[in-house]
Amino acid sequence: MQQYLQDIADRCGGTAGEVASYIPELAAADPDRFALALATVDGHVYTVGDAEVRYSIQSISKPFTYALALADQGAEAVAEKVDVEPSGEAFNEISLAAQTGRPRNPMINAGAITAASLVRGATGEERFNRVLEWYGAFAGRDLDVDEGVYGSELGTAHRNRAIAHMLREYEILEGDPEETLAQYIRQCAIAVDTRDLALMAATLANGGVQPVTGERVLETGSVERVLSVMATCGMYDAAGDWISTVGMPAKSGVSGGIIAVLPGQVGVAVFSPRLDAHGNSARGVQLCERMSRDMEMHLMHVG
Ligand code: GLU
Repeated sequence: MQQYLQDIADRCGGTAGEVASYIPELAAADPDRFALALATVDGHVYTVGDAEVRYSIQSISKPFTYALALADQGAEAVAEKVDVEPSGEAFNEISLAAQTGRPRNPMINAGAITAASLVRGATGEERFNRVLEWYGAFAGRDLDVDEGVYGSELGTAHRNRAIAHMLREYEILEGDPEETLAQYIRQCAIAVDTRDLALMAATLANGGVQPVTGERVLETGSVERVLSVMATCGMYDAAGDWISTVGMPAKSGVSGGIIAVLPGQVGVAVFSPRLDAHGNSARGVQLCERMSRDMEMHLMHVG
């Protein structure tokens, strides 16, 4: 396995794509950083490259906060506030579904900010602390925040601020939208490495039980829901292409990470900051396509 991962990393190189620049601190990322990690449901972790270099989790946070909202409020209460339909829109679209008045899904920013507001806690800070601890349970270690990224994004979050206020206006959010906005941006700035992400993905692959610590973090019913929205909505407006070619529930983030989950078997994480036109890591997508083909990981694979 180790040798295979090294080979595939060497073969799927390339310098296509651009590092995200709309958050000033992310623009400073080293574009050539690379890491790949694979964690099995029985707790083996294989890594290649800079697997212990940390970066902000960004949108890979979204499925985990959605999971926490499900755990805290139950599926029905969450569904009243956020739908599970693919949007085909950019992740930061300022929109609600016309028919339902709800954000279309929890993987776009409107739905992710809503999910953050549904975490239990009286204040944004209390909710955030729950989120931080929750991600740590998936990763199997305590995590913290990249304060530089947090400050940088908070200062330039005009679109997300507009989305939060729109959600408040339509009574999807309750309370102070600025508080939820800050909570969401702080969640995006939680620092992880590629090994952490592989273990977070492997916890989902393992039906909600962290493979190394053995802790049950999430109920299996919620795992199914989370994986379903990842499968249909996890890769921005390239979700259809991804599920056709790679065939696994996944989530990407603008700092250059991607996680993919093969239920019952493995969690994969890859990190390379250059992004393609959809905002997904260019090398990460290339590598996952290749790995899925080589190892027959496509969920719809027959034969
Ligand atoms: N914090 C980023 C935002 O909300 C996350 C974007 C992403 O990774 O897609 O704009």
